[in-house]
Amino acid sequence: MRIHAIKTGTVKIKTAQVEGQGGRFRRQLAIYTDRNWTEWLPTYAWAIEHREGVIVVDTGQGAHLLETSRSYHPFLRWEVAFRIEREEEVGPQLRALGIGPRDVKKTVLTHLHMDHDGGLSHFPNSEILVAPGELRTASGLAGRIRGYLPNRWPAWFDPAPLNLAAEPFGPFARSRRLTNAGDVVAVATPGHTADHISVVVQEDETTLFLAGDTSYTQSLMLADKVDGVSPHERSSMATLDAIRRFAAARPTVYLPTHDPQAGARLANRRVVGTPDSIALPAGFGSSRPSAA
Ligand SMILES: [Zn+2]
Repeated sequence: MRIHAIKTGTVKIKTAQVEGQGGRFRRQLAIYTDRNWTEWLPTYAWAIEHREGVIVVDTGQGAHLLETSRSYHPFLRWEVAFRIEREEEVGPQLRALGIGPRDVKKTVLTHLHMDHDGGLSHFPNSEILVAPGELRTASGLAGRIRGYLPNRWPAWFDPAPLNLAAEPFGPFARSRRLTNAGDVVAVATPGHTADHISVVVQEDETTLFLAGDTSYTQSLMLADKVDGVSPHERSSMATLDAIRRFAAARPTVYLPTHDPQAGARLANRRVVGTPDSIALPAGFGSSRPSAA
């Protein structure tokens, strides 16, 4: 099994989105009043070359996101900026790895934020799996008001429901196997969105945790810092706690979508508890605990 980290361009957001400030309303409002931007952060998609077929986790950014600066939505217009070239989209990068669109058996989305579903058009022949609650939240006018881009989904987009069973997987209450071998498993990680999921990949020695946006960096997860957009602070904190317990019980490589160190961490199988070798970019999360 080979796992690829595919960087689909970069994104810039307000520091108050990365590390939440204050309780719910203050925390979500702070994104709009904050004048401080992060550095350009990566947006990763992941490809798992599994013997049962390739599984893609999240589809990253699409070049259409460059138009968000002209959106009428205040968040899209003022609080986020993207950089992406067409050849940086997930499809062309997979082809460069020798993975064609028909090789991808399953495409799993951790949630439907625009920098995770932006490459959907590259997977017309894949089974696409999305949590039903996430699909409801993102659909229609209400979805657009919430900042999703359902109008950018391909016309054929009709995902299969990723229903998680009440089968605990470690500290996670609900899970679902994505392979017959049981070595790739979706787990419920509510917080960043109410129906957010993560994908756990079991290798021989280590466990990879494809975290989506459960936190923007490993440091913020270790420091128990809820981000600025999570609708429910308590479920976010419970999820971060579950991830820490999971990583304490087995060697785990934690891989959030926008962590500048995620690519190197995967390449070196650097597990939670070993310090990252490169410093975080300026303005990118002030919390840096020294150990797990
Ligand atoms: Zn997100």
